This record gives sequence, C-alpha cells and structure tokens, in this order.
Amino acid sequence: MPTSRLNIQATSGKQYIYSFTEGGAEGDATMKNLLGGKGANLAEMANIGLPVPPGFTLSTEVCTYYYDHSQTYPEGLFEQDIPDALEKIETALGKKFGDPEDPLLVSVRSGARASMPGMMDTILNLGLNDTTVEGLAHRSGNPRFAWDCYRRFVQMYGDVVMDLKPQDSKHSDPFESILDEHKKKKGCSLDTQLDTDDLKAIVSAFKAAILERTGQEFPEDPHVQLQGAIGAVFGSWNNERAIVYRKLNHIPGYWGTACNVQAMVFGNMGDRSGTGVAFTRDAATGENIFYGEYLMNAQGEDVVAGTRTPLKIRHLQEEKPDIYQQLDCIRTRLEQHYRDMMDIEFTIENDRLFMLQCRVGKRTGLAAIRIAYDMCKEGLIDEKEALLRIEPDQLNQLLRPVFDQKEKDRAISEGRLLATGLNAGPGAATGSICFSARQAQEVKERGQLAILVRIETSPEDIEGMSLAEGILTERGGMTSHAALVARQMGKVCVAGCGELDIDYQKGEMRIEGTDIVLKEGDSISLDGTTGEVIQGEIKTRNPEVIEVLADKTLKPEDAPTWQIFDQVMQWADHYRTLKVRTNADQPEQAELAVTFGAEGIGLCRTEHMFFGGQRIDAMREMILADDIGDRQKALEKLLPYQRDDFYGLFKAMGSRPVTIRLLDPPLHEFLPQEDAEIEALAKKIGMAFHDVKTRIDNLHEFNPMLGLRGCRLGILHPEIPAMQVRAIIEAACIIKKEGHDIIPEIMVPLVSTVRELELTSEIIHKVARRVMAEQEIGVTYLVGTMIEVPRAALTSGDIAKAADFFSYGTNDLTQMGLGMSRDDSGQFLPVYQNYDIFPHNPFESLDQEGIGRLIKLSAKEGRSVKSDLKLGICGEHGGDPATIEFCHTTGINYVSCSPFRIPIARLAAARAAIG
Ligand code: ADP
Ligand code: MG
Ligand code: MG
Repeated sequence: MPTSRLNIQATSGKQYIYSFTEGGAEGDATMKNLLGGKGANLAEMANIGLPVPPGFTLSTEVCTYYYDHSQTYPEGLFEQDIPDALEKIETALGKKFGDPEDPLLVSVRSGARASMPGMMDTILNLGLNDTTVEGLAHRSGNPRFAWDCYRRFVQMYGDVVMDLKPQDSKHSDPFESILDEHKKKKGCSLDTQLDTDDLKAIVSAFKAAILERTGQEFPEDPHVQLQGAIGAVFGSWNNERAIVYRKLNHIPGYWGTACNVQAMVFGNMGDRSGTGVAFTRDAATGENIFYGEYLMNAQGEDVVAGTRTPLKIRHLQEEKPDIYQQLDCIRTRLEQHYRDMMDIEFTIENDRLFMLQCRVGKRTGLAAIRIAYDMCKEGLIDEKEALLRIEPDQLNQLLRPVFDQKEKDRAISEGRLLATGLNAGPGAATGSICFSARQAQEVKERGQLAILVRIETSPEDIEGMSLAEGILTERGGMTSHAALVARQMGKVCVAGCGELDIDYQKGEMRIEGTDIVLKEGDSISLDGTTGEVIQGEIKTRNPEVIEVLADKTLKPEDAPTWQIFDQVMQWADHYRTLKVRTNADQPEQAELAVTFGAEGIGLCRTEHMFFGGQRIDAMREMILADDIGDRQKALEKLLPYQRDDFYGLFKAMGSRPVTIRLLDPPLHEFLPQEDAEIEALAKKIGMAFHDVKTRIDNLHEFNPMLGLRGCRLGILHPEIPAMQVRAIIEAACIIKKEGHDIIPEIMVPLVSTVRELELTSEIIHKVARRVMAEQEIGVTYLVGTMIEVPRAALTSGDIAKAADFFSYGTNDLTQMGLGMSRDDSGQFLPVYQNYDIFPHNPFESLDQEGIGRLIKLSAKEGRSVKSDLKLGICGEHGGDPATIEFCHTTGINYVSCSPFRIPIARLAAARAAIG
C-alpha cells in the first residue's frame, strides 16, 4: 500500500486527521466538536506533557462524510492521510505497522462530542497476525503476553468488525463459550491462568468460528484490519444501543463520532503491568479523595467488565508507591488544568505509567453540588462557574427520600439484610425484582416500582435501567457500566454484589450461603448509599435538606449537606434576576414554598378550595340552583370558607404577592356521576333525584375543555366571581387591619378578547369598592389575566390596556396552540418522540419555537402598551430549566412552580442570568 501513495492526492485540502504525540498535538481540548471528547482530551493531555501514547484522530467530519456519501470515505484518506499519520507514530516509537520483527500495534477507539460510555466499540492490539505475533513474542520475550494480545484482538475484531454475535439472547457469546470451554478443559477459572499453548489453541478456534459462521477469513493484512476497524467505529455510531443512548441523552445523530487510532501500551505484560480507571474525586459523594480501581496484568475493559474484581486505588499506593505518586500528581495537575473533577483511564506497562483518556467525570447530584462548592472554596472556580456546574435537576437528589433508619434497622434485625454490594449510586429504592428490561417495563405499566436485577449490565439494558427505581448487579465495580449509567441517570445502584446468584432462566436469585430464594416480582430494597440489599419493602424518610427546611426536625448546624445546599442557593439568588414564585392553594403548601425560597404565589387555583366536607355540598348546591336567589344563598355559605382560605394564604406569604385565579374549570367537575352519590346529594340538599340528574345531564358538555369554563363562567354567572372577589378583598382588609401589607393579584382565566376581561374587571372593581367601603379601609389590588388562548396572545396589545399583569398559562396555551389534549397525549406522544416530531415532550418543556413564539409576541405587544406590565408564567413548565432560561431571555418577571421545584427554578434562573 505505501508504494502507491505518491500518485494519489491527499484529501482535497481539508484536514480530516489530527495527530498527537507526547509533548505536542494538532488539536486541543476546545476541539470536541471536531475531535470528539476523547480525541480532544488526548490532544490536551499530550499538550500539557502527560505520558500519552502517540496517535491520531479521524475527525467527526469523516463520520458525517461517511453517512452523507453512502458509507464511503473522503478520497485519499486511506491512501495518503492515514499512512502519513501512521508514519508519525512509527517515527515517534521506532516501530513499524505490520513489521514482522517489531510490529507497531494500535487501538481503534470511537469518541463522540459527548461521552457515551460503552455505547460504541473499541478494538485493541490491531496489527497482529500469525507473523507479527511471533515478532511481538520475540521482542517482548514474553510469548504468553503476545498470544494474550492476539487472542483479545481476534475476539474483539470478530465481534465488532465481523459481527460474530450470539445467535439470540438464549445463546452465549460464541467467543466466550470457546474461552470457557478451554478454561474448563484446563480446570481454571481466570484468563490469566491460561498459558501460551492454550492461547494459541483459542486463537485458532476463534478464527475457525469466524470462518464457519461468517464465511470469511480473519484478515491477516494489518491495513485491511485497520480499515475494517475504522469502518466499524463509524458504523457503531448508528448501532441500536448508541441510538437508544442518544435519544435518552438528547444527543443529535448529526454530530457523528470521531475515531482515534493510538499506539498500544500493554497492561497485560505481567505483574509489573496493569490498567485502571479513576475519578479525581469521589463521584458518588463528591468528597475530595482519589477514587479508582485497577487490575494488574489486565487490558482494556477488564477493569470494568466485572469478571475479575478490581482493587481500590489506595491499594496501589502500597503495591506501587512510585506509580501511585505519579498518578496522584497527574490527578492534581488535571484538576488544576481542567478545574473540574476528571474521570481518567490509565495503563501501566512494565512499571511505566500511560494516560489513555480523561474527561470531565460524571457524578451524582450530591457530588455535583459538593464538588462545585468545594472547588469554589478552593479557589479553582468562581461562584458563577460553581452554579454552572450543577444541573438544576440534580438538586432533586437532595430532595428525594432516603430510608427511614428505624425501619431499616428493624429490617436488618429481622434478618432481612440479604447482602452488601458496592454503593454505586446513592439513594433509597424499593420495588419488585425484575430480571430483564422487559419485565421492568411490564411492572411499570402496572403502575408498580421496578428494581432491575442483572448479573451485570450491558448497554442493551439502558432502557430497563431508565425505567427502574434502582439497579442491582452481581458483578462489576464502582466504574462498571451499571454504576456509571446509574449515576448519570440519578438512579439508586448497588453493584458487584457477589453473594447473589442470579439465574435468568429460572427467574430467581439465591443468596449464597443461605437457603433464601427470591423470585421475579418479589419486593426488595436497595440502599445505594451503603450498598445494602434488603428483603421486602422499607419505608423511606425525608432527606437532610427537607428535614431542616420542611420538617424542622434537624438543626442547620447538624446538617452539612444542607449547609452546602443553602450556600449554593444563596449564590443563585445573588445572580438571578428572574423571580420565583410557587403554585399553592393551601397555607401549609405556601409555607413550605417560602422555606424553599418562594417569593410569592404565582398561581392559587381556587377550585381546589371547593372540595372536601361541607364546602363541596354548598358548591354543588350553588351549581344545581335554578335561580339567582338560590345560587346567592349557596354562595353565601361558601363565602366564609373562601375568606378563611385567602386569609390563611396571605398570612403564610407575609408581604409577598399572591395571585389568585378566579374559578376556572367547568362546573360538572364538581358534581357526582354515580347514581348512588347523586341520590345522597339530592337528599342532602332537598331536591328530587331526577331533578338533580337532569341538571347534571344538562351540564354535560361535548368538549368541556373548550366549554363553559374560565371567564365565561363569570360572564354567565357574575355572582360567582363576585363572591370570590368579596372573599379576597375581605381577607386582605383583615390582614391590613392586622398591620400587614398585602397586594392581592386577581387573575381572570381563559380570556381571549379584551372585552371578556373588561366585563369581568367591572364586576371585580364594583365588589372590591363595596367591600372596602364596608370595611372602611382601602387595599391595593391588581387585576390581570391568564394568557392561555392563542387569540389572547395575538391580541395582547389590546388586552394589556385592561390588565395590570399577564400570566402565561402554558398548560392550556400548549394544549390550545397545538390542538392537543395533554391528558390524551399519552397515546401518541411516545410515537411522536420516536419520530423526533418534538425535541421534548411539549407539556414538560415549553415548545419554544411555537408556543414560545406566541409568548414572545404577546410580551412585546403587551409591553408596547404598558411598559411596566408584569409578566409571569404559571404552567407546569415553570419548573423546567430550559423553559426558565427561555423566560429569562424573554424578559418575563417571574416563573411559578410547585414547592419542590423551587430550588431547581432558583438555580436554573441563576444559570440563565450567568449565561
Ligand atoms: P470507551 O469509549 O468505552 O471508554 P476506550 O476507547 O476508552 O472505550 O477503550 C476502552 C479501553 O481500552 C481503555 O480504557 C483502555 O484501557 C483500552 N485502550 C484503548 N486504547 C488503548 C491503547 N492505545 N493502549 C492500551 N489500552 C488501550
Ligand atoms: Mg468502548
Ligand atoms: Mg474509555
């Protein structure tokens, strides 16, 4: 191949390949889009002088080209560019690719912009064949090592490039079964116990299997091997598990992957060699300790595969102090350089350390907060950066339940502690045992909680993992696939629980050394913080932050996690400009929201106040009344309840603003549907069963969402808003007399024309004036409207003339804007998502292109009429970080969300302000 090179043009001027050698690289860490995360960081590590084996990166543009040109490559790539880049490695190391005496071997590694652990394929020891293996054996003086490399290479190549896979899920991996057969024959259990002759026999058996099953010979030519491996890496971008992973993590397909070709270093040369992975801080708790695992005489994925149990990094400190020292320096160096917690992969070849990968480490929410806080205190990053380091949703992990310690202690004293594994993903989870993703899905569909229990997880399991509350594995370490993915998903995980003996066929698991057998569907509890696996259910309890803030059962000074949380929240409040309110309609809810940092109530849904006890009877009486007189009487019964409700709410909120929405839902929602209930109601209010039934039937609507509801109710029955306004203003007057200033914000729902708002406002003002005269005190109040009908958004200039504020009701605005009922969308949205029709569920995260555009237009028009028009948003979207960012940039004044989302919203608002 090299002979023809001179005649062929290099790839038309465009740079597709970026080389790196220790001390210098053509790329750097900023070039992730082009070089992928792995390639960019290999280049960066080379640039800062860390020991990186030389290599080169085929950029993501090769991948894009490959898919744009029916899986072909830019002209000249294999003829010129790759041989040139290989030559640089050859020069650096003084070895030649394919040389029978002293062959250069390479790894071929995928690496996209975002890390996708284990999703795509890596091939090691490429360049070995029947001739070069002898050269390697001779050079290294270690034939066993050479054949071990060859065995691994043929296996990986056969699997990844030649696609020799298990026939179906019942069959085992063809290579693994050959390997097991030989081990059995030999009477050993570990690969490391196989000798050269065994390995030679295994290699032949592998090749024979490849030929038999694929009809193709294993390629001996290293250049053919290289081309095959590169093709497989680009091909793996679109394998099924990569696609599933991308979907779950919102990684677009057009990014493509880069491909790294790198000189091999060998961790499998014997007892002075090894390989490992580590985090520069604890990825589960965030603690500033070096955290990692390694295996001596091992290569590649051996550490994470879970077949041999790796050793803790502190053991390396005793076993190889020099190497540990060097590694620890690199740890500090990398943290200083990247100013973040890093995840590293290293290999020791005959007592020499090499760095093979580094990337910003994935971490739990708890660790994210702790690391951001610590690094800020250490001066590595500033407050703004610290805030940007915490994903708002990660705060959930601090607000989520943990096991009730008493319950747990009792379970343990009852002998229900089954086993203890590695505490790979913190938190508490209880659910039914599922041995497969499919089972987990079934359990979820039945509305129950699932715990996925696997011998070890593979990328095929990610869907099941995402459905499960927790994940339990028999094998694998802290950095195993299960552990990594679980932490990223924020799932509870106990890994490497060797005492389990799982049998998928029988659908059961035994606990070694006992006669306990657990079946699929049995309930089990996992403590991901301690690694304990407990039989049966255990009650959960509130976490530290909730105990301090809500329950007040823990003192702040005794709550270190709360202290960090509190500091981070204070930073967030300092930087954000968007206000955060809560959706609440009960005083306790409002109080809780205030402890979480709510600055007001953005939405009080008054309909929730009409349920329960005697109120619902009065409400029903009001609805069923057939003349104004009767209706008035029923409303008078309701008035004191409403006034008390508002009084409680105002009191809980102090001087913070409270937005109260007038009655919105269609009236039939308050009425009983069953005959027995109707009968009972009729008796209670002294009406005939048939009259009640007829009245209920008359209220039936074909499409209640678009029927008699919202401001229409008040326009038809002005006495309803009149009663509500009276209750609001009376409560405000009482509060005012008690010496507090409260400005109620009365909000009219479902307005689509300014006239509707004007008519309703007239009622509001008339009643308010009358109440203030009666009470002989004046209170300030605002009258505004929801913008939740597209017509209102489009005519906001007019509507603003009659409104003191707008609140975007994004639930209805989304439903009406898309012509899609949220409650029915479960049938089709999953399919929609498969077709990428919406990038996100539009009921969870605002459809910014469409509904967002309505909001922007409305905000602009409204403010052009009234420059100080107050704008807020009160749909479910108010707690969604992406929507919050949108609100910040649109100039909305506040978002409103449920109490538990408030910390998340505060952080999201700060991050939006920092930008
Ligand atoms: P992943 O993207 O799944 O992390 P990698 O490309 O990092 O896959 O490859 C997996 C493992 O293979 C690495 O952690 C490392 O142990 C091993 N490996 C990759 N390249 C080399 C190399 N050039 N020399 C020695 N080992 C390598
Ligand atoms: Mg890989
Ligand atoms: Mg890796």
